[in-house]
Amino acid sequence: IFASVPKAPADPILGLVGRFKADTSEKKVNLSVGAYRTAEGKPWILPSVAEAEKLVVLDTTQDKEYQPIDGKPENKLPVQQLLFDQSVIDSGCIATAQALSGTGSLQVIAQFLKFMGVKKVWGPNPTWGNHPKIFARALLEYETYPYWHQESRGLDFAGMMAGIQKMQEGECILLHAVAHNPTGVDPTVAQWDEIVAACRERKLIPLLDNAYQGYASGDLAKDGYAQRLFTSSGLEFFIAQSFAKNFGLYGERIGYVHAKCATKEAAEVVLSQLKIIIRQAYSSPPKHGAAIVNKVLTTPELKDMWLKELTLMSNRISDMRVALRQAIEAKGTPGTWNHVTDQIGMFTFTGLSKEQVVRMVEEFHIYMTADGRISMAGLNPSNVQYVAECIDKAARG
Ligand code: PMP
Repeated sequence: IFASVPKAPADPILGLVGRFKADTSEKKVNLSVGAYRTAEGKPWILPSVAEAEKLVVLDTTQDKEYQPIDGKPENKLPVQQLLFDQSVIDSGCIATAQALSGTGSLQVIAQFLKFMGVKKVWGPNPTWGNHPKIFARALLEYETYPYWHQESRGLDFAGMMAGIQKMQEGECILLHAVAHNPTGVDPTVAQWDEIVAACRERKLIPLLDNAYQGYASGDLAKDGYAQRLFTSSGLEFFIAQSFAKNFGLYGERIGYVHAKCATKEAAEVVLSQLKIIIRQAYSSPPKHGAAIVNKVLTTPELKDMWLKELTLMSNRISDMRVALRQAIEAKGTPGTWNHVTDQIGMFTFTGLSKEQVVRMVEEFHIYMTADGRISMAGLNPSNVQYVAECIDKAARG
């Protein structure tokens, strides 16, 4: 039965993690996967999360029964409050369902788009590698709009706006809500205004992928700007909300789908259909991560701790941006390196070519994705000089 099944290639990002683990070099540095690491290079359980988890485990009123298909109703309000003003929440216009982190939320939304009869999704070029595949899996057409401007190592805003003009009524535009992966380049506040206006004019269905709120600036409100702008514009749109990075709950697979609808009635109908999709896909979501997030968000002292931890994580990454840029510039490495500090969030899109990346991995044992993306969270005071040295060597050819 299985003899004719072809072997699939390793995942471009998770495959690198396997290679990193197998590498015996003492110099090895893992800048591939987007997961936070401490200044000592270790994974970090956020203290607020550890505290919340203890409370969750000790809570004898909890059982192991199934959750509702869309998650517990009482868990929805605190996660909506990270994205929407209270008056919007009170209007009942938001359909919210717990889902399996950001990826699972995107899957549910993709299937819902297909169910609605949407033909095509437009995503930024470049984008997170899984995006095109998620929409293709839901049998949606997928095309890209320009995003990255190689010369300035910044946003190709004119290209993006021209790309939006090609989109047709009822097509979906995928936008990264904050801290674009892999480029670390976001639209400015003024540019977001134009994007929202263009979505309205072209009658598009916006989908905001929110995987890094609080991670870019340490400030949830600042990093939540795009959602609030879309909400105040009155447009209907989707959000895929992940708590993998900002709570460090990668393995708990906790996230939410939100559909901001024009009316309460529409939100009820949308939720009823989201529940059908979830029921057929995996029946109901897991409890543990949802309980932890809820405990942190509804316990004032824990929420306070969490906000400080977000600031700490984003500050450490900003410090690494400064350190890496300084170390590269001190070597007089060819090219400009201001993009290392200009870009935000977890990643820097270094601008290294495919060949240069191969050298970084094969010769220097520095693991990064083939597009030249490095996870800044993998840098620390002990390895930043080595990474800068190797970038210098690679850039000089
Ligand atoms: N969207 C983007 C842009 C991401 O970078 C990621 C994680 N790399 C995700 C969604 C999904 O992450 P998760 O499923 O772990 O929440």
